[in-house]
Amino acid sequence: MSNNIKNKVLVITGASSGLGETTARHLASLGARLVLGARRTERLQKLVADITAAGGEAIAVTTDVARRADVEALVAQGVQHFGRIDVLVNNAGIMPLAPMAKLKVEEWDRMIDVNIKGVLYGVAAALPRFSAQGSGHIINVASVAGIKVFAGMGTVYSATKFAVRALSEGLRTEAPEGVRTTIISPGAVDSELKTHSSDQETSAAVQAWYEANQIPADSVARAIAYAIEQPENVDISEVVLRPVAQE
Ligand code: NDP
Repeated sequence: MSNNIKNKVLVITGASSGLGETTARHLASLGARLVLGARRTERLQKLVADITAAGGEAIAVTTDVARRADVEALVAQGVQHFGRIDVLVNNAGIMPLAPMAKLKVEEWDRMIDVNIKGVLYGVAAALPRFSAQGSGHIINVASVAGIKVFAGMGTVYSATKFAVRALSEGLRTEAPEGVRTTIISPGAVDSELKTHSSDQETSAAVQAWYEANQIPADSVARAIAYAIEQPENVDISEVVLRPVAQE
């Protein structure tokens, strides 16, 4: 019986660790064919080797989502290899948390480049193809931090995730006929994200809080699979999931 995932071609950004890697493994186990993007090529190659050894299909494309040409090439290589793409998961993101008063302006720039512009570049690469196919699915990974502002250390990160939810909601209403959109908004999930802060005090507090509360990355992988496996006329517009103990 078809699960509406088997044989679909999925492009996943930020597939070298955390949510992206776990989602790739889970979707491959359900029969999806994968195009995996991130900057750390060796990690992607190891993931491709694992998926292939388990009987799945995947390719790795070294990608910096802050570069539009890289994101175009990621999608183009997916189309070249598999003949089409069906789903784009805009998952790559960074979370260098710090109080605003620390003025980590370069990290603000980087968050805007990766978390917002990276998602927009993905949309720009996939939308014309989905429009031509009359089908497709764009899944954007936002955050609970895109619903409420975690002031004190997460203001700029929250701003980027509010932007992801806003552009995703607009895209849902503007998307060509047959194209689905989904926002995935997780709370604290076990990954490398909690280690991104360059501010020592913030980093220690964030890691301690995560260690006490985080849920496993496969909770997100299952949410993404749930959105994809629905019949094509069902749009799971947003999934919010978090540790029970998280506000
Ligand atoms: P990780 O740090 O484990 O993974 C982040 C991924 O993004 C890595 O694969 C990394 O790959 C990739 N990445 C970072 N910068 C770039 C770039 N410029 N170009 C391409 N890829 C990049 O964290 P998570 O798995 O937790 O994060 C995935 C997404 O989930 C992010 O958008 C994050 O904001 C979101 N999220 C996470 C939550 C959590 O608690 N973990 C909660 C809510 C949302 P590489 O370094 O190899 O490029």
